[in-house]
Amino acid sequence: MSDSIFTKIKNKEIPGNIVYEDDQCFAIEDINPQAPVHILIIPHKEITKVSDTSSEDKDLLGHLLYVSKKIADRYDLNDNYRLIINNGAGAGQSVFHIHVHLMGGRSLEWPPG
Ligand code: AMP
Repeated sequence: MSDSIFTKIKNKEIPGNIVYEDDQCFAIEDINPQAPVHILIIPHKEITKVSDTSSEDKDLLGHLLYVSKKIADRYDLNDNYRLIINNGAGAGQSVFHIHVHLMGGRSLEWPPG
């Protein structure tokens, strides 16, 4: 299978702004931001979506949330931000390499639609 668009950004094959990287994941600025801060937190492992994970991915999934929190702190979002994972095309997923959306910097309505 060919690399996802996010992996290509990580590998600098296509442009993108990488704002964080560790041994398990990396984070980029969303190309079409829906809030003043809109970052995507992405595992190096190319899991397609949450519903395709297994018990071996538990720690990695937790790590993605913890890194999201660390990045939110770095952007001074304090305790006002939203973390979203779209699962499946019917739920709005368009890139099939699991990622957490971190959005903040404005007030966010609920429900999201
Ligand atoms: P989702 O619809 O949940 O799969 O989210 C995919 C996200 O990836 C969207 O918010 C897109 O704006 C974003 N995206 C798509 N292509 C790129 C890219 N080349 N660089 C950065 N973000 C991208």
